[in-house]
Amino acid sequence: EGDGGRVCYVNGGLVPEAEARISILDHALLYGDGVFDTVIAWDGRLFRLDDHIDRLFRSMAAVAIPTPVSREELRDLTIRAVRANKLDNAYVKWIVTRGSNDTPLMDPAGCAANLIILVRPYIHRYAPDSRSGLRLKTAAIRRPPGQVLSPQIKSLNYLNLVLAKIEAKSAQADEALLLDIHGRVCEAPGYNVFVASRGTLLTPQHDILEGITRASVMEIAAQQAVPLRICDVELYDAYAAEEVFLTSTAGGLVPVVEVDGRVIGEGRPGPLFARFSKAYQEMIASPDWGTAVHGE
Ligand code: PMP
Repeated sequence: EGDGGRVCYVNGGLVPEAEARISILDHALLYGDGVFDTVIAWDGRLFRLDDHIDRLFRSMAAVAIPTPVSREELRDLTIRAVRANKLDNAYVKWIVTRGSNDTPLMDPAGCAANLIILVRPYIHRYAPDSRSGLRLKTAAIRRPPGQVLSPQIKSLNYLNLVLAKIEAKSAQADEALLLDIHGRVCEAPGYNVFVASRGTLLTPQHDILEGITRASVMEIAAQQAVPLRICDVELYDAYAAEEVFLTSTAGGLVPVVEVDGRVIGEGRPGPLFARFSKAYQEMIASPDWGTAVHGE
């Protein structure tokens, strides 16, 4: 089949991934007009499932896409889709598109939303025990401010982040660091940013997606009494930091060892990262935070 036996959910049913179909007139394809969210299953549990569902529903509300299913239905469908793929550790992506009408014009009239649930085996982007980390390069392109397109909406319009990534790759860096229009540290493509500066963890406050992994890191900081500030973060803070790391649902906690040629700390993942990464691994495996996929 070429899809490794994977199945996904499209508009009402589970189908082999290779047979999933969506119109070429869909507004997601034509205009990036849709929203998404990503959740992971770890050890048979969907981590912070309701937080992700809530955020997806807020994204739909913000772009005025009528919800194609209820929260409860989405929960059940997600569990069914992970089960059907016989996975304990999974990457799950919900994609909600505006849908299509019978013209290729930018007119939402008559569109009906499509829901896709894509399930893949969990993809390790970075081994938690690795002794290395990412080298970041500040992108020339800036993150759009909320007045242009709210970064709180997880929209299917990710071109800004794709372009930043292309810049980073062409400069032989591993990943991009995006600044806001004022030149402050903002995000990496698909990641929030944390900077350890003089013993305090800093994380940007404006023009970011308020990541759920970011929220988990804040919980860990509170538990471990590590001082944390949500504030403006300057490039200087990153360059002079003891440690820098990135956070995302799909990638977890990812250490950074270099920013624009400045070596961060000792040039390898630091002690704060090690502590937070361990605590986060425990958190994603904990029944307190996870929804069982295969029943308890
Ligand atoms: N910022 C952006 C733009 C993202 O797409 C993501 C990935 N969802 C994040 C930050 C990290 O958010 P989370 O921890 O909720 O995955």
